[in-house]
Amino acid sequence: MELELEPLRLPGVEAKRPIVIAGPCSAETEEQVMDTATQLAAKGIRIFRAGIWKPRTKPGGFEGVGAVGLPWLQRVQKELGMLVSTEVATPRHVEAALEAGVDILWIGARTVANPFAMQELADSLRGADVPVLVKNPVNPDLELWIGGLERINGAGIKRLGVIHRGFSSYDKRIYRNLPMWHIPIELRRRIPHLPIFGDPSHIGGVRELVAPLSQQAMDLGFAGLIVESHCTPDSAWSDAKQQVTPDVLDFILDKLIIRDIKQTTESLETLRRQIDEIDNSVIELLAKRMRISREIGQYKREHNMTVVQTGRYTEILDKRGVQGVLCGMSGDFMKTIFEAIHEESVRQQIDVMNK
Ligand code: PEP
Ligand code: MN
Repeated sequence: MELELEPLRLPGVEAKRPIVIAGPCSAETEEQVMDTATQLAAKGIRIFRAGIWKPRTKPGGFEGVGAVGLPWLQRVQKELGMLVSTEVATPRHVEAALEAGVDILWIGARTVANPFAMQELADSLRGADVPVLVKNPVNPDLELWIGGLERINGAGIKRLGVIHRGFSSYDKRIYRNLPMWHIPIELRRRIPHLPIFGDPSHIGGVRELVAPLSQQAMDLGFAGLIVESHCTPDSAWSDAKQQVTPDVLDFILDKLIIRDIKQTTESLETLRRQIDEIDNSVIELLAKRMRISREIGQYKREHNMTVVQTGRYTEILDKRGVQGVLCGMSGDFMKTIFEAIHEESVRQQIDVMNK
């Protein structure tokens, strides 16, 4: 389905990259909202964010202040002249947010992963003239993301954008949510005029990663950034580690290098980023393969088996060689790669057996 899009049209906001949305993960108190928003406004930020209804992994955590926070956002609009945005996850949230005059709505990653919830939200948005930003679903499924956009667009919402906040993974060594940049890149190839906002806070999960991830989003030509900023980040009621003060945000934004967007989506920079991303995946997959080799080593040790079983090795080299050739690579290349992989696997197994 072709999306029918219109520009976001954000009154008072320059169309210059990056369009910045900033504010705390959650609205906590009226003072915290006003203090943060006042400092952000003083730095020239025009769009405020604050979660009023918070999706939590487990019950009992801080689930947001709820509708009592809406008048605080209205104060931000009236007293500071900012546009305000919040997350909606149910038709009840949509109704309350629209009633309160919230300027921009976003739909969170957990909600986008659920087509029933997305359809209910779409139905509740019918007839509203409000920009909606759709976060990527928690799982790396581009079709699901696009399906969510189609549902919202199908309800007549034409001022649409997306937020790239990364994808859940067990592997949290660097990122809280893996960026998998190739997914938003492919989304832009499929729907070129859809504005993409990078969310360095939720991808990184720590404040040290906000700057480099913002730069990466800009290098990929994203339209904007949505960054979590709090007047006293360390005492935030949610996502404390990833929030930055308005001062630090201003410093980060000031240091960003904004390059011209090349007309073609296949600029060298974009292709190189894709290569980087794929190399990261190759390394992660190899590490996963080695972990399994170690498990096999453990099994062989427990069952008194030898490490190298030549039949299996020959089979791997032959099969992978044929597969590789079918995929357009040379047989010699495949042999070199898999010999090297096998050598490292054996080393890993021996290491486990000698423990
Ligand atoms: C948020 O923006 O605070 C949030 C809950 O994000 P996500 O849906 O990306 O986890
Ligand atoms: Mn958050």
